[in-house]
Amino acid sequence: MPEFAFIGRSNVGKSSLINMLTNHKKLAKTSGRPGKTQLINHFVINDNWYLVDLPGYGYAKVSKNQRNKFQAYISDYIINRENLYCLFVLVDCRHEPQKIDMEFIEWLGEKQIPFALIFTKSDKLGKNQLHSNVAAYKKQLRKTWEELPPIFMSSAETGFGKEEILNFIAETDPSLENMV
Ligand code: GDP
Repeated sequence: MPEFAFIGRSNVGKSSLINMLTNHKKLAKTSGRPGKTQLINHFVINDNWYLVDLPGYGYAKVSKNQRNKFQAYISDYIINRENLYCLFVLVDCRHEPQKIDMEFIEWLGEKQIPFALIFTKSDKLGKNQLHSNVAAYKKQLRKTWEELPPIFMSSAETGFGKEEILNFIAETDPSLENMV
């Protein structure tokens, strides 16, 4: 089954967005490999795709060694997953382009991982400010990318962006009808 994964810095609003996209249903986790810490969670959606919840990156509070291990684990998933159709990278719309996000996005490019950007918490900004922040991101991205990735704005508070993101998922794999 196709997999669509979600990643971002901790506190970016990933859990809230996932809840919003899945109508706050209690999701059934698929059984992970026994003995492995459940860093990466797979949820079956509609019996036809996996929503993959990846842990937040950029923890300041863990040791460098822990962080490296953790990153190796996520990178390993991202690089080796054949069924990963798209990785959604979440960024908080209130912040300027962050170094850690830009580095991560650059790495995705090097590894040729298909990804899209989702701006979270859009309800926290006025329309003009939101568009100006998104424009700042695009400008930054254009320094490295000829073509911009798909970009979505969202709010878990108001449900803004939900349909667009779900439609994008359905269109990426046309076998996915009857979305969440
Ligand atoms: P995670 O650590 O990335 O999973 O982030 P959470 O989903 O736990 O959200 C972090 C904080 O941001 C919580 O206090 C949420 O209530 C808040 N939050 C998340 N999404 C939104 C949103 O779309 N709008 C607003 N106003 N707050 C949000």
